[in-house]
Amino acid sequence: MIVTIDGPAGAGKSSIARVLAERLGFQFLDTGAMYRAVTLAALRQQLTEADADQVAQLAATLTITLSGPRIWLGSEEVTAEIRSQAVNKHVAIAASNPAVRSLMVDQQRAIGARGNTVTEGRDQGTVVFPQAECKIFLTASPLERARRRHAQLQERGDTTPLEEVLEQQSLRDHRDSTRAVGPLKQPPGSEVVVTDGLSPAEVVARLEAIVRR
Ligand code: C5P
Repeated sequence: MIVTIDGPAGAGKSSIARVLAERLGFQFLDTGAMYRAVTLAALRQQLTEADADQVAQLAATLTITLSGPRIWLGSEEVTAEIRSQAVNKHVAIAASNPAVRSLMVDQQRAIGARGNTVTEGRDQGTVVFPQAECKIFLTASPLERARRRHAQLQERGDTTPLEEVLEQQSLRDHRDSTRAVGPLKQPPGSEVVVTDGLSPAEVVARLEAIVRR
């Protein structure tokens, strides 16, 4: 069985999807981590979004391994580095590259074919697994999402003001939903879950009920 969870940044997808997978005893696929890993490799070679062909060639040579919350590029663990501000800022290098997306989609389908999976991203219910048995669109209001991100940044000692977080978020939302390949949209047949005012445990419980229905 495949459970897809798509939605915008800051809806709480990754943590929720991970816990849901554990509860169900399913493998968990963090597709954002894959785009982040390709971006990291490209940044290390000083490639930019304009170097689309080179980024695609590079992506084809990479071995990305996901295991629980950890991720490797070849034999090097890059779990922390893929969450850096540089990768956050430049992730379009990988995400807006059609050849990279097509490569990632193939790898994601191969992982999904191994068994029961909870997969999380932007295009899982629309492009990668349109035949998934259970599709969820997880979202929250822009202000709620920005507040959560702001709180996370503060925990890390980052003092970016809430207004700026909100502004960066709306730019990223716009980019994610209007790009030519793999744009974020609500998958047909998906269940929409709005997480405003819900605790993570409440969201997980709601999703688990949807999957087991
Ligand atoms: O979910 P996460 O923030 O880790 O994803 C990083 C970026 O990767 C997103 O901003 C999005 O642009 C891109 N992404 C994507 N397709 C996916 C997952 C993530 O384009 N399936």
